[in-house]
Amino acid sequence: MSANPQIVAKPAPTVKLLIDGKFVDSATDEWRDVINPATQELLARVPFATQAEVNAAIISAKEAFKTWRNTPLAARARVMLKLQQLIRDNMSRIAQTLTAEQGKTLPDAEGDIFRGLEVVEHACSIGSLQMGEFAENVANGVDTYSIRQPIGVCAGISPFNFPAMIPLWMFPMAIVCGNTFVLKPSEQDPMTPMLLAELAIEAGVPPGVLNIVHGGKEVVDALCTHPDIVAVSFVGSCHVGKHVYELASEHGKRVQSMMGAKNHAVVLPDANKDQALNALIGASFGAAGQRCMAVSVGVLVGEAKQWIPDLVAKAKTLKVANGSEKGADLGPLISKAAKNRVVGLIEDGAKEGAKLELDGRAIKVPGNESGNFVGPTILSGVKPGMKVYETEIFGPVLSLVNVATLDQAIQLINDNPFGNGTAIFTQSGAAARKFQNEIDVGQVGINVPIPVPVPFFSFTGSRGSKLGDLGPYGKQVVQFYTQTKTITARWFDDSVSAGKVNTTISLK
Ligand code: NAD
Repeated sequence: MSANPQIVAKPAPTVKLLIDGKFVDSATDEWRDVINPATQELLARVPFATQAEVNAAIISAKEAFKTWRNTPLAARARVMLKLQQLIRDNMSRIAQTLTAEQGKTLPDAEGDIFRGLEVVEHACSIGSLQMGEFAENVANGVDTYSIRQPIGVCAGISPFNFPAMIPLWMFPMAIVCGNTFVLKPSEQDPMTPMLLAELAIEAGVPPGVLNIVHGGKEVVDALCTHPDIVAVSFVGSCHVGKHVYELASEHGKRVQSMMGAKNHAVVLPDANKDQALNALIGASFGAAGQRCMAVSVGVLVGEAKQWIPDLVAKAKTLKVANGSEKGADLGPLISKAAKNRVVGLIEDGAKEGAKLELDGRAIKVPGNESGNFVGPTILSGVKPGMKVYETEIFGPVLSLVNVATLDQAIQLINDNPFGNGTAIFTQSGAAARKFQNEIDVGQVGINVPIPVPVPFFSFTGSRGSKLGDLGPYGKQVVQFYTQTKTITARWFDDSVSAGKVNTTISLK
């Protein structure tokens, strides 16, 4: 017993695992701190699950699949209906946790949850989404139909930057299709996914249908290689995404890997200037640039380069603050390591000859001096070949490239290896139509800076930003989380002659 109990620091809460419907403490001896990136406050400690715990989660999911796969579609949809209501009711409570552990502003945290909630709403339509096809009388008395069946135990590995939206891209669609799931959220902000898991259990997700294990590479590799996992959804950086894709594919799994990006926004001189500049600023600096669809390169065509001073003036008006503060436009980066990396890349850009129009490296945020803040930063005169152009910065840094024509802008973007998102700002329908047709990027915005599709469509990043054919949510993910079985059936009428033996391939 302590001599003076009053001065004993309150131990940080531990993040639980979810195994077989129960929230349990891990038996591991490896723990990481979950830190508020604005204040450095210790929020919780997250376990790196043991091999035995990962196995227990998978065994539970495998057992639960036996009954969940045959649970009626409407019953599964009703669980999603309940879940969407619970998320809606708990939005502001979840947003507070999300802002505390991730750093983004409270309104943006609500946006993060809302974009995930939309996927849950879409999952409620599983009755029509999972329908098969039927063709009558494909040969005499023969009908053919296809059904979409769940595939088994699926796994999801999610990144730190959308701790609500991306887990919600994954488990609701997987389980509403009749699969069971093991989620491995980011170890940097695992508390938000746990709140969503609590709501899923409250909504009626049965034990074993959703399991959560925490950890890093060892846990991820265990999921990618376990014989009972049939599919892996990954969202995160390129180098980890490639590793997950290769390892899980080698072990016979279906894999979708959504990865890093370098998104360009083209500004034509005929664009509505204020709208275009506002959009560019919001999409570059919102969430401190930590979005896979953030604009990180502004491509100024012709006379649009005259707008740089206005762009800088607008960027200077943004309030960098603790995300929980009213009026904050952007919060801190997720960690000290992330801040050091971004600061280093800005230095590299300046050394390589880019002009620092606005430098956010030395920003001071009163009251939160220890936060991982970087202010809005704008580099002009950036060129392909510079590190700052070739690397995904994942911070509040906008690089500006000047080109003379729309054709040059399209060429620049198509020469870049990434294909997550792009946008064009113009008042010319013809220019926008040419751009949409010729640009080799999976998601295109026309006067829309962050064209993340709503869930009736799918997330369709392409080229270096994606491995695997089918993207998250929408119709594509129903294909990903199901397999098609095609049945050819003939029912004999007693009055029909059996005819002769048929030794050919034709249906007779
Ligand atoms: P990350 O790749 O570091 O981590 C993603 C997940 O992989 C985490 O759960 C992490 O624990 C795990 N992981 C980390 N290192 C690993 C290793 N060596 N082996 C196995 N697993 C490992 O990504 P992040 O930093 O959390 O997220 C930011 C990245 O995610 C950015 O590159 C961003 O562009 C990308 N992202 C892409 C999309 C998209 O849809 N394309 C969406 C959001 C984020």
